[in-house]
Amino acid sequence: MRRLQFHRLSGLTGLVHDRTVRLAVTGLSGSGKTAFITSLVCNLLSAGGRPARLPFLRSAAERRIVGAKLLAPDDGTISQFPVHDTIAALADDPPHWPPGTTDLRRIVLSLRFAPAGFIGRAAGGTAELRLEILDYPGEWLLDLPLLGRSYHEWSRVALDLARRGARKPLAGEWLDFVGRQRANADGDSVVVRRAHDLYRAFLEACRTREQLSLLQPGRFLNPGHMADPSLLWFCPMPLPIGARRRAGSLGAIMEERFEAYKRAVVQPFFMHLGRNVDRQIVLVDVLRALNAGEEAFTDQRLALETILEAFRFGRRSPLRLLFGARIDRVLFAATKADHVPALQRDHLEALTANLVAVPTLRARQAHARVAAAALASIRCTDDGTDVIDGHKVDVVIGLPQGGERRIRFFPGIVPVTPPPTGFWGERFTEFPIFQPPRIAGAGGDGVPHINLDKALEFLLGDVLA
Ligand code: GDP
Repeated sequence: MRRLQFHRLSGLTGLVHDRTVRLAVTGLSGSGKTAFITSLVCNLLSAGGRPARLPFLRSAAERRIVGAKLLAPDDGTISQFPVHDTIAALADDPPHWPPGTTDLRRIVLSLRFAPAGFIGRAAGGTAELRLEILDYPGEWLLDLPLLGRSYHEWSRVALDLARRGARKPLAGEWLDFVGRQRANADGDSVVVRRAHDLYRAFLEACRTREQLSLLQPGRFLNPGHMADPSLLWFCPMPLPIGARRRAGSLGAIMEERFEAYKRAVVQPFFMHLGRNVDRQIVLVDVLRALNAGEEAFTDQRLALETILEAFRFGRRSPLRLLFGARIDRVLFAATKADHVPALQRDHLEALTANLVAVPTLRARQAHARVAAAALASIRCTDDGTDVIDGHKVDVVIGLPQGGERRIRFFPGIVPVTPPPTGFWGERFTEFPIFQPPRIAGAGGDGVPHINLDKALEFLLGDVLA
């Protein structure tokens, strides 16, 4: 079942253990990818000297990780994850958060470890795990449904969605503009560009003002590096049913760009993912969506289902035929779990498992292992108690960014299942941005976290055995 590529075959230990694993890290913008990778790298680099940082990663707890180092990138097509800069931000005085992920990035580590099994012990010596970590915006996964839709179908679905709920008041200017255009009129590049800009501004407002997640196409908000930005210059349009589009008309230009975007951007990305990734972690800021209210929460759930669809690489999945598909473990992790005290973290994990329950069942049928977790990549708070209205309550204690004194923060109760409609009367408590802890300059002492080790055990435990 395991589909791991052998890296080097030298001697008996090499035959048994030396291998490469490609771990992809994704999540929507702000979900915590940069913090996760920085903490993962620092904690693995220091795992040999400080195994107590990762008690639930068996190989570390059993003191079998004997060394780790960063490897130089071996191909120049993907930019390097700037780990020295992200560590420097956390080691600064005062420490601050590094900027988040906006493009595809990669970092490669080599881990030397003593194998645990009988054959490994008998052979003596150590084995090498080459761990390639790939970081990319989760928004890109939201483009998967586009591959199966015509421009006409996509336009209909997108317009329908834009006319409902929290999106409606934000879509006004764009809807008015495209409503005034005729799809069969001569295509005018100024009109096409204006329509695209208004649609993009609408998506941006959905994200920043309403914290919505299901915003397509994913590259409109997170383009990354694109050799030809004009591939993005299109948007959905109202199209008369059954009408044939005249070549060179506005509708025809939009359609051509939509198809070119799928062909030149979306398909190659999924091909890369399917062929070059073994394990995947999807980071989700569940607390932020809870905080933003019912519509943001439901929207995040729909986005998650779309994202999981991308990993449904079962035998009969069309994706498998198209793209290869090696991914056999996917972990969904709610991030920033240090915003809530211990018991609430269990709730957060249960809620996350619940959010991905249906797609998880489907993934299991497809022979992939899927799990849910709640973690804090960089723990900024301690647990404590407070008295509110005469009742003792659990709180977290941390320094708000830019603040001078640590605060006791009571986040409320995290529901273990998606909240029923009545719950949403008031917004969930607003979360402060806590200042990260200051770490040693080279990151060599590791980074405090919550459950990062459990996540790593799920993702890598078998290959470090
Ligand atoms: P990205 O856009 O997915 O790369 O997200 P980042 O890793 O940049 O995280 C976005 C923000 O979330 C950070 O600037 C922090 O404010 C916050 N954050 C990320 N991870 C943690 C964490 O483990 N604990 C806390 N308290 N905040 C976090």
